[in-house]
Amino acid sequence: MRTRQFASLLVAILATVGVLAQQQSFQTDPSVAKLRQHISYLASDALEGRRTGSAGANNAAHYIAGEFSRLGLRPAVQPSNTRKLSEAMSRYLQTFPYVAGVQLGKGNALSFNQASGAAPVSLGVGHSWMPLGFSANGRVDRTATVFVGFGITSAELNYNDYQAADVAGKVAIALSGTPDGDNPHGRFARYEEVRWKAIAARNAGARALIVVAREESFHDDRLSTLRYDNSAGDAGIIVLALSRQAARKLLDFATDKPLSDLEEQMAKHGDTKLVTHPVKSLDVSIAADVTRREVPAYNVVGVLDGSDPVLKNETIVIGAHYDHLGRGGEGSLAPRSGEIHHGADDNASGVAGVLELARLFTGQRPRPKRTIVFITFSGEEEGLLGSSYYVNSPLVSLANTVAMINMDMIGRMKDRKLIIGGVGTAKEWRDIIGSGNFLQGVNVTATRGTSNAQQGDGTRGGSAGFPMVVSANGRSIVTTDSAKSFDLTLQEDGYGPSDHSSFYSKQIPVLFFWTGNHEDYHKPSDTADKINYDDEARVLSLVARIVRDVDSGAKRPSYTVAKSESAGRSTGFRVYLGTIPNYADTNDGLLLDGVRDDSPAAIAGVKAGDRIMKIAGRVVHNVYDYTYALGEMKAGQEYVIEVLRGTERLTLKITPAARKP
Ligand SMILES: [Zn+2]
Repeated sequence: MRTRQFASLLVAILATVGVLAQQQSFQTDPSVAKLRQHISYLASDALEGRRTGSAGANNAAHYIAGEFSRLGLRPAVQPSNTRKLSEAMSRYLQTFPYVAGVQLGKGNALSFNQASGAAPVSLGVGHSWMPLGFSANGRVDRTATVFVGFGITSAELNYNDYQAADVAGKVAIALSGTPDGDNPHGRFARYEEVRWKAIAARNAGARALIVVAREESFHDDRLSTLRYDNSAGDAGIIVLALSRQAARKLLDFATDKPLSDLEEQMAKHGDTKLVTHPVKSLDVSIAADVTRREVPAYNVVGVLDGSDPVLKNETIVIGAHYDHLGRGGEGSLAPRSGEIHHGADDNASGVAGVLELARLFTGQRPRPKRTIVFITFSGEEEGLLGSSYYVNSPLVSLANTVAMINMDMIGRMKDRKLIIGGVGTAKEWRDIIGSGNFLQGVNVTATRGTSNAQQGDGTRGGSAGFPMVVSANGRSIVTTDSAKSFDLTLQEDGYGPSDHSSFYSKQIPVLFFWTGNHEDYHKPSDTADKINYDDEARVLSLVARIVRDVDSGAKRPSYTVAKSESAGRSTGFRVYLGTIPNYADTNDGLLLDGVRDDSPAAIAGVKAGDRIMKIAGRVVHNVYDYTYALGEMKAGQEYVIEVLRGTERLTLKITPAARKP
């Protein structure tokens, strides 16, 4: 037990007795049976992993809305014309647009002119070539092609495939992979993704990039399947994959041998700076047409109005995301895709928590003073899309939202270890958490009425722990059992990899509850039978205590700027700026949700809400361009950064810091 907890001991005991006296009707504990019921359904095969925009996710939303309705929460949304759901249910759903995937449009064409001057050769889309999901739409007519090796540029590795190739206004042809071959730990591993190759080609002035497939049979190549990478913004140029058979013709090779020779030769020379490309290539015409398939996605929102005539205008948000990874794909850590990712801990556990807390708080008498808004978010796994949408289109005033409590993965507690993030976002959090955790181990025996008073936990004699307060007849009234408290890890930062981050970016105090990582994270094996239900119920009783503590206070928690602990954590890049990108935004540039305190970006004068348009001489259309530019920057060197603030374009100077290893 820590010193801090000793100091608050007496206060805590008095508070316990006080709470007991005040809230006679709040003696229901979170129900293990109900948690099991919710998680078993949400993580069942029937919901197919709840990928945002899928039928499984929508069925989960329907289930949650049904529970909210049954508990008597007020729907927060005006009726909409949501199909497939009854109108009563749809009033709990906040709809936001979501790109569920991409598909081929009707206007795709690729042809090249033969060296002999014979008629152009047309290639069938899907058979010989495929635009990539992030390709820009558009066309190039009879344009010269230039072979660019692997199409990689790296300032860090002092490697540049474009050094000897003039591609301005032309079409670049690149091989798949890197000079390291398939080595996932090679020096070039970071540059293998076609996203990066596309940026290199665009930076060099190319109008399109053609990537030669790696597999002999085009259908076996991963680039031959049109895939959406769940991120905003296209590459800014046409990008397509080409079958090896077609590539041989385009590079004017009669047989396969020269193409594989070329790949071998390129790999061998990969460590030298200058690579020459003695390759004939022909003019091409390309039309690329990729359409985005937009579907609605839903946050589920239910309101418990406060009972205090004044404080009911203030709101506490309790949230958790209900979407997961479906059958794999982007975000999955499974060796192969296709299997249902059940997401029992991530995050059926948090949703069950929201539902249980909604049940407890709707049953509390007297009712909470402040309004409590229960929200389950969608689109979290794709980049906090639902919570980001909510904070930009709130259903209850954000200015009066006094705290946001987020639960993400609270079902796999080991050794009573609990992580709480966001403790630096309000002055009061450490004290509230400290006494809440202490009370987890405190058992109060109600001694009103007869001397045969029952123990709170059902045991007899009141000796299950260290006696703290003893009554005149020798009976223990208050006992404490430190083994029942959690072993807490408190983290200051209000930003993080879950939905509380969206609220913190709007200057709202947040807390984030998490029982830690495990081997089933983001795999099909995250199943309901592995949940530690008893400990999840205890976590929820702590969360309930904390919410009650916030609710009973006369003053709202005082927002503070938290120290950022993840600053400098290695993400593969050498420099650190301290920017928090908004992943939901689809407009040009990079919108920032936040800027870390004292970071290079903050020092430069960059602010939350700014849109980065250019950095270090590179135009920024999306987060990929931005990341690529970061990779080219050096710590300690000054660069120009251009941001859009409202309608004003500002030019600032920024000096990146070195990342800690
Ligand atoms: Zn997740």
